[in-house]
Amino acid sequence: MSEHKETRSTCCYCGVGCGVLISSDGEQITGVRGDPEHPANFGRLCSKGSQLHLTSTPLVQAQRRLQQPMLRHQRTDALTATDWDTSIAYVAQRIHRCVQEHGPDSIGFYVSGQLLTEDYFLFNKLARGLIGTNQIDSNSRLCMSSAVAGYKQSLGSDAPPCNYEDLDHADLVLIIGANPAYAHPVLYRRLEAARAKRPQMKLVVVDPRRTDSAQDADLHLAIKPGTDVALLNGLLHICFWEGWIQADWIAAHTSGFDALRDSVRHCTPEQTAAICGVSADDIYQLARWFAQSPASLSLYCQGLNQSSAGTAKNSALINLHLVTAQIGRAGAGPFSLTGQPNAMGGRETGSMANLLCGHRNLNSAEDRAEVTEFWGIPELPAQAGTTAVDMFEAARSGKIRILWIVCTNPAHSLPSQAQVRAALEAAELVIVQEAFRDTATCAYADVLLPAASWGEKEGTVTNSERRISRVRAAIAPAGMAKPDWWIASRIGQAIQAQMQEKQALRLDYPSSQEIWNEHRALTRGRDLDITGLSYALLEQEPQQWPCPEGQTTGKARLYTDFQFAHADGKARLICTPYQPAIDKINARTPFILSGGRLRDHWHGMSRTGVNPAAFAHQPEPLLEMHPQDMAARFLKDGDMVSLRNARGQQIWRIRANPALRSGMLWLPMHWGEEYVWGCSGDIRNLGANTLASPALDPQSFQPELKFASVQLQKQ
Ligand code: SF4
Repeated sequence: MSEHKETRSTCCYCGVGCGVLISSDGEQITGVRGDPEHPANFGRLCSKGSQLHLTSTPLVQAQRRLQQPMLRHQRTDALTATDWDTSIAYVAQRIHRCVQEHGPDSIGFYVSGQLLTEDYFLFNKLARGLIGTNQIDSNSRLCMSSAVAGYKQSLGSDAPPCNYEDLDHADLVLIIGANPAYAHPVLYRRLEAARAKRPQMKLVVVDPRRTDSAQDADLHLAIKPGTDVALLNGLLHICFWEGWIQADWIAAHTSGFDALRDSVRHCTPEQTAAICGVSADDIYQLARWFAQSPASLSLYCQGLNQSSAGTAKNSALINLHLVTAQIGRAGAGPFSLTGQPNAMGGRETGSMANLLCGHRNLNSAEDRAEVTEFWGIPELPAQAGTTAVDMFEAARSGKIRILWIVCTNPAHSLPSQAQVRAALEAAELVIVQEAFRDTATCAYADVLLPAASWGEKEGTVTNSERRISRVRAAIAPAGMAKPDWWIASRIGQAIQAQMQEKQALRLDYPSSQEIWNEHRALTRGRDLDITGLSYALLEQEPQQWPCPEGQTTGKARLYTDFQFAHADGKARLICTPYQPAIDKINARTPFILSGGRLRDHWHGMSRTGVNPAAFAHQPEPLLEMHPQDMAARFLKDGDMVSLRNARGQQIWRIRANPALRSGMLWLPMHWGEEYVWGCSGDIRNLGANTLASPALDPQSFQPELKFASVQLQKQ
């Protein structure tokens, strides 16, 4: 007899981190509703979250899920089904041999913000502790690394100071480089509710497009793409000029004031208006509202982060909060929104090439020693590994010989797809650990390892407001699929059996809970100390970090005492001179191509693509262009156009959208190689980022996915 039950868990899509209640009947998920007791959403769900059960129907499980390990010994062979023992032994033997012959840095791990914290922790331990390489990076590099670098250099720690409740207290909300109406819908509903309750609350949106979020704004600044730093420096200039700064607070709690003031002396409203393409009056209005509102809150995401100046954009915004003392109070502060469900967990476990677990610094001998002592190993590698884009370049050049790709789809999402695919072909061994079997990256796999998916695994995730929630299994994994941490554990143990010097390193765990306990023990005394957060406590209610041992609730807001995380306790005002995007607009490539999310789809659609209802909002990818630009080129809705630059060529159907700035093109990020109709000859649509610039921010190494110069021709 089948068993009906409801399981409390967390949505697996965006960084809002909504609580869900999963209905299941035996081994089938039958429904999802919002968890009325979860503090991130209080029962609300967006269209994606409320349709999660439609992504694990029996048909989807049978037709789209990867259900057993697959293996091929030669590239010319087809993948054939195998068992776990064979695939574990094969992967372990290939990795061990490669490390012996070419050193530990010949192995590259490319992991994901979709992983649970426990998965992340174990891959980090496997890479650094067992194999001895820092060649582990996350697709969060494409998502949040500029926010990390900005928080660290300005405030001293990768710690978002705000929380969702701040929306109920803010008098001004500045949304810059984000469209939460689409990308963080439940949070946006909360903002709408707060405005309905307090109509005097101002909303300002800075975005080159008139998005759904911008349409609701009291003031929309449709700046030219990539000019955010110029705008923010212009706002600072006005605040200095008008005396709208908190001089005593600045003197007590910040350093670098004189240099910052001098650096924006030339950023007059007129000059700023000319660079950004918006009116000086609107810039002045925003400066006045921001500085003079009792509480100003900023929300930002990929529009700031995915840029060759991403760190500067983050710090320029934090500068504005600091000089106006709009931080450390209810309703005030710089609040970065995470794109992925557990981008924060990856940062906490140090699962990026230049981080170390528990927010430790990789380049600190003392920090490394704490971890080696805890793990019982002689040393950890000190040299930072290659970051996402460079990792694939290292594979293309032969420096990395084995790529282990976990829960992400780089053959869709990374910039310069031709180079990425060349890297996948050049690697000696490509291991892909996936829940769905038809992603673009799976086509390059020599070993496919079936991973448990949402609704099938146990662990934790951390959302944008530092809140940690439990993820729970409602049903057993499909077929032979296993939790990601289990796969890392078993392959790690098989490698370890061949490495006498690493026998003390623990890699065998009976459950995700034991991994969690080790992770939280490693946070003791750190800024994110979660030694008090047992699974048992999290069962009662999701909690924000820090939450040290002895406490039963986490910390709602950071820096309320204005003690920042730099050694002197002061925040740093960082000079951020405006630098244009790397790609240049000229007669050959006169258009700026940008892209982003639609409301109902997620990333490369491996999950939302199996749900027919997700296509109701927009059934096909459409390249958007301003109607005047279309008229000037004799284009009409539905025409096929080709986009081209030095990185490739693509063909898309076009439609007019007056919400864009003239000179700009916009493409949804979701469709990839499966979208082949309309293409001809050698042209393959490998996804929206095919033409994207691989230029990296020099501090965060985040690629510039929002600004590529392209040429457009009617087909
Ligand atoms: Fe899921 Fe994000 Fe929607 Fe919440 S807002 S239901 S976390 S996709």
